[in-house]
Amino acid sequence: MKNITILGSTGSIGESTLDVIARHANQFQVIALTANSHVDRMIEQCRKFNPRYVVMSDENAAQQVAEKLETQGIQEIEVLAGAKNLEFVASHEDVDYVMAAIVGAAGLLPTLAAAKHGKRVLLANKEALVMSGKLFMDEVRENKAELLPIDSEHNAIFQCMPETKNEMLSNMGITRILLTSSGGPFLQQSLAELSHVTPDQACAHPNWDMGRKISVDSATMMNKGLEVIEAHWLFNAAAENIQVVVHPQSVIHSMVEYEDGSVLAQLGNPDMRTPIAHAMAWPQRMESGVKQLNIFDIKRLDFEAPDFDRFPCLRLAYEALEKGGTSTTILNAANEIAVEAFLNETISFLDIPKVIEKTMADLTSVDASSLEVILEADQTAREIARVIVSELGL
Ligand code: NAD
Ligand code: MG
Repeated sequence: MKNITILGSTGSIGESTLDVIARHANQFQVIALTANSHVDRMIEQCRKFNPRYVVMSDENAAQQVAEKLETQGIQEIEVLAGAKNLEFVASHEDVDYVMAAIVGAAGLLPTLAAAKHGKRVLLANKEALVMSGKLFMDEVRENKAELLPIDSEHNAIFQCMPETKNEMLSNMGITRILLTSSGGPFLQQSLAELSHVTPDQACAHPNWDMGRKISVDSATMMNKGLEVIEAHWLFNAAAENIQVVVHPQSVIHSMVEYEDGSVLAQLGNPDMRTPIAHAMAWPQRMESGVKQLNIFDIKRLDFEAPDFDRFPCLRLAYEALEKGGTSTTILNAANEIAVEAFLNETISFLDIPKVIEKTMADLTSVDASSLEVILEADQTAREIARVIVSELGL
C-alpha cells in the first residue's frame, strides 16, 4: 500500500489521478487532497476517497469545506487552510508519493517540500522546474527523492531512455530528444487571424482536455517552450539537443534519437492517465483506464518544424534557457500574468508574447543561487508584467 498526497486534486490532472487510484484502491491510500477554492468538487472527492487531510489554500473555501463535511456527518477529515499547509501534507512522514498538480508558481514550494523529504514526486507542475530547475534538481539528488515526470512528453522520453539514466545524454548514446507538440488549436491560423482569437477558442484544444492556463500555453506554444526547459533539467540536455517537432495527431508523445540511428518513440491515445499510471506503478505497469491505441484507425502520422514567427513564445523560451539564471523564472512569471490578462480579456492573444518579451528586456537576469533570489525575481517580474499589461490594456 502506498500513501499519496495529491496537490491540486480538483484540477484536470488531479481528477485523472483519482480516476487511476479508484481502479487500484487496494494499492493506494489517499492521505491528503488539496485545492485552491473548488469547494463542491472537493466535497465529492472527500466522500469518495476519505482522505486524512484536506487543504484549501483559500481560507474562506476551507471554512466552507469544513462546514459542509460536518453537515454531511463526515468528521474524521481534518480541514486545513493556507499555502503553508500544502507543504505540511507534501512532506508528511506517512506520505510515500506526492502528485504535484497545482498549476503555476503556486506549486513550487509544496513540490520542493516533497523533494526535500525524499518522496516519490509525480511531477505534473512544469512551472516549478522552469522557475528553479537547478535548485529543484539539487534537492531531488541530495534527498534521494524519486522524480517521475507526468507531463506526457517527458514521461514518453523517460520511457524511451535506458533504465540506468547516466548524467550525460552522450554517455547513453543519445544524440537528441525529439519533443513532440500538437501545435495547439491555432496551428493553421495566420498571424492576422491570431490577432482576434478569444479565450474560449484558445482553450478548445483539439486533442487534450486540460486546465485553462495550460490550454492557453498550448495555443501560444509557450507550453512547448516550458517543456523544452523542463526537459533540459529533467534529462540534463542542452538546448541544442532538444528539437521540437510539430505532430498534430498527438499519438507519438515524444522520441529519443540514438547515435546508432535508432529513434525510440512512445505512442498512445492522448489521455493523461497513461503517464500517471506509468509513474505511479513504475518500475511495474498497471491498467490506467485508457483505451488501447488502434493503429489502423490512425493510418498516418504527420511531422513538421515549428514556426517561430507565428509562435514567438517558443523562441522566447529558448532564449531564456540560453541566458540561464533567473531568465526562465522571469519568463514564467510574465507568462502567468499575460495568460491571466488574456483569459480576463484585458489583452489580446498576440499581446501575450509582447508582455513576456518586454518583461524579459526590462529585467536583468541574475544567478538563480537561492530560493530567495528566485522568489524575488518572480515577484519583480510579475510587477513589471502587470504594468506592461495595463499599458497594453484594451
Ligand atoms: P487545472 O487548472 O485543471 O487544476 C489546477 C489545480 O491547482 C486545481 O486543483 C486548483 O485548485 C489548484 N490550484 C490553482 N491555483 C492554486 C493556488 N494558488 N494554490 C493552491 N492550489 C491551486 O490545471 P491542470 O490542467 O490539471 O494542470 C496542472 C499542472 O499540470 C500544470 O502545471 C500543468 O502545466 C501541468 N500539466 C497538465 C496537463 C494536463 O493535461 N492537464 C498535462 C501536462 C502537464
Ligand atoms: Mg505536455
